[in-house]
Order: sequence, then structure tokens, then C-alpha cells
Amino acid sequence: MKITVGAALFLLGFGPICWGQTNSTMNTGGAGETAPLLSANTYAVFGATPQQEALVRSQIHIMQPAVLPLRVFFVAHSKYVDNTRIFHLQVPAGYTSAMFTHLPSRTIFIDADRYINDESLVYWLAHELGHLASNSAKEQDAERAARELRKRLRDEGKRRRHDVAGEQAKRFPPSAAQFFASFASTGNL
Ligand SMILES: [Zn+2]
Repeated sequence: MKITVGAALFLLGFGPICWGQTNSTMNTGGAGETAPLLSANTYAVFGATPQQEALVRSQIHIMQPAVLPLRVFFVAHSKYVDNTRIFHLQVPAGYTSAMFTHLPSRTIFIDADRYINDESLVYWLAHELGHLASNSAKEQDAERAARELRKRLRDEGKRRRHDVAGEQAKRFPPSAAQFFASFASTGNL
């Protein structure tokens, strides 16, 4: 319930809002506002479960986007639909309608009722961060920027798998059979 109130207050606070302006006159963030230094605390996450929030924060941390959102809202489907209407959002064919970014306020809206799984959430989160990084409402621009972010996620995933494999090798040293085989071949005790 608090989420709904919070979202409504948030919307009121911004007054008239336009969506999808891709021309160069659109100024995001205001003249005095610069991209914040990367830190887990420079943006707010609303309406998420603790797990969702942890996932969003850890994945954004790994992706190191050039521009962070200021807010990430998980909202109920009806609220999400309201927001898409308020922002005159039209979702191009082939793109998810489970989340969108309002560029002027650097706000990402996620339809909490269409949360499919962590993987798809992260995939499309990269897309939304791509909108912010490219400062563009165009899907192609967002995807171009998202590719680099997804690559960072893959690289991190590989690194972690590698670490796990290394840990397992340490924990499970060569078997007794291997040990005795090597002893037999060298003759050293
Ligand atoms: Zn998009």
C-alpha cells in the first residue's frame, strides 16, 4: 500500500511529464546534475522484495553503467499501466513492456506482476540502463549500450565459475588413488 502512495507522490512531484522525446532539446537530469559516482547508495529501489532489491543492486554494481538511475520502482501491474499511460509510453514490437525508463527523471519502472525470472529481469535491466547511458529513448541506442553491460555480466559470471572451480580443486585434492599412483611411479615416500 505504501508503494502506491509513494509512487503517486513521486508522480505528483514531477508535474507534467513527456515521454519519448528523442530530439536534442531534451535535457535530462538538469544542468547542475552530474552523473553520480558509482555507489550502491546513490539510487533508491522502491517496492521490491529484499531479494529483488539485492539482485538489482548487485547486477547494477557488476554492470557499472555510465549513468545510474536515480530510482527503480517495482510497481503492481495496474500502477504500471497507469504510468505507461501518463508517460504516453508506446512499446515497440519486439521489446518488453515489463519495464521502462523515464529519462528526464532517470527512473526505471518495473512491472512487478510481470516479473518472470531473475535472468530476464537482469537482461531487460541492462536495456533500461542502456537508455540512460545513451541518453536516448530509441530502442536501438539502448540495445547498443546494453550489449556492453551484458558482456560485463557474462564476464563476471565466468570469473565466478572459474573461482568456484578453483575452490573445489583446493577442497578436493587428488584422490588417494592418484596419490599412490604418483608414489608408485616416483618411488618416493
Ligand atoms: Zn527500451
